[in-house]
Amino acid sequence: LDVQMQELHSLINEVLEGVKAEHGEGLKLKLNADRTTIFADRVHLLSVIRNLVENAIKYSKKPFEITVETKNTQNGIILSVSDKGIGIPKEYLNKIFNKFYRVPTGNVHNVKGFGLGLNYVQQIVKAHKWTINVISEYGEGSTFSIHIPQEN
Ligand code: ATP
Ligand code: MG
Repeated sequence: LDVQMQELHSLINEVLEGVKAEHGEGLKLKLNADRTTIFADRVHLLSVIRNLVENAIKYSKKPFEITVETKNTQNGIILSVSDKGIGIPKEYLNKIFNKFYRVPTGNVHNVKGFGLGLNYVQQIVKAHKWTINVISEYGEGSTFSIHIPQEN
């Protein structure tokens, strides 16, 4: 990793500008964190955010509704990407970060993929000593949250 000081909200905006140009409406931003300077590998973090947003789009029916949110917690920042898409049945949730794993109910509209994106995301999150978790309700939607501890 090439870890440097980054401003999280600028990185999010940079990713979303590209996504908006391609997909148009349906993206909401709730950038509520107020201390958003973090130490991160810029290129990899951009790619992590892009992977989560692209999944949110891929696994939603149009018109999609995706929210990218930041907020401060007692010991850091939470960055989350939420969708109201197809969701993931509970029994598959512990496998989605595995290399090449794709949820069998996930292919309702023939979305292509290798099952590599979330494995990459998890590796980058771990390499930064951050954590990621997912909350999902089948048929309702999913939220992927990255916890970035504050460095003092
Ligand atoms: P790739 O990212 O390599 O192009 P992919 O999107 O299939 O392919 P991952 O991003 O690793 O692979 O995701 C793994 C699986 O987890 C997906 O195939 C899909 O079944 C499920 N998944 C991931 N994100 C979501 C989401 N936001 N909503 C519903 N299912 C999801
Ligand atoms: Mg993916």
